[in-house]
Amino acid sequence: MSEPGSRDRHRDPTCVFCRIVAGELPSTVVHADDELIAIRDIAPRAPTHILILTRDHIVSAADLTAADGPLLGNVFATAATLARSEGIADRGYRVVTNVGEWGGQTVDHLHFHLMGGRSFTWPPG
Ligand code: AMP
Ligand code: ZN
Repeated sequence: MSEPGSRDRHRDPTCVFCRIVAGELPSTVVHADDELIAIRDIAPRAPTHILILTRDHIVSAADLTAADGPLLGNVFATAATLARSEGIADRGYRVVTNVGEWGGQTVDHLHFHLMGGRSFTWPPG
């Protein structure tokens, strides 16, 4: 198992999102490419609530470096494309990634929440 800060991006067999990426656990996939998959959140907090996951096991955004710029470009371009196909682009939406306990992270595998279909407050709770 990789620890926070680790550069080991191999699959973690104990990680629920690695198991989803591998197809070992069911999910509703709405996008897939060589770096990312996007799935519907199992407990949606908004009318549209999609998770964009890296295929690699990266613990959180705290483990990203400048070399991950192209990966992050893909994340946000994918979010924009999905927002249009979900019909949430015009009113606006939120893309967020939680880091660590106080950030509200519950799955230690990098993912971005794409949420829309209602208005959101700021700051979040
Ligand atoms: P976070 O709390 O930011 O780490 O986000 C984790 C998200 O993963 C939560 O919104 C959960 O509802 C979602 N989640 C957990 N397990 C699954 C699963 N098996 N399939 C889809 N979404 C999941
Ligand atoms: Zn993982």
